[in-house]
Amino acid sequence: MAKEKKEIYQDCKVICACGATFDTKSTKDEIHVEVCSECHPFYTGKQVRASKKGNVEKFNAKYGLNKEEK
Ligand SMILES: [Zn+2]
Repeated sequence: MAKEKKEIYQDCKVICACGATFDTKSTKDEIHVEVCSECHPFYTGKQVRASKKGNVEKFNAKYGLNKEEK
């Protein structure tokens, strides 16, 4: 007799690293995630800029190319 592990589509609790939890449906009964809509910068708007100044700006500043010439 072959034992068959049935995966049932059921209620699932998603637990985020930030502490937020929400319910969804899955074959697993619990899912752990690192980011969710509660803590992801895209949704919170608290995103910090990766770099203050890009290489293009540095180059332009060094060679004085950022002046508008018309
Ligand atoms: Zn989260």
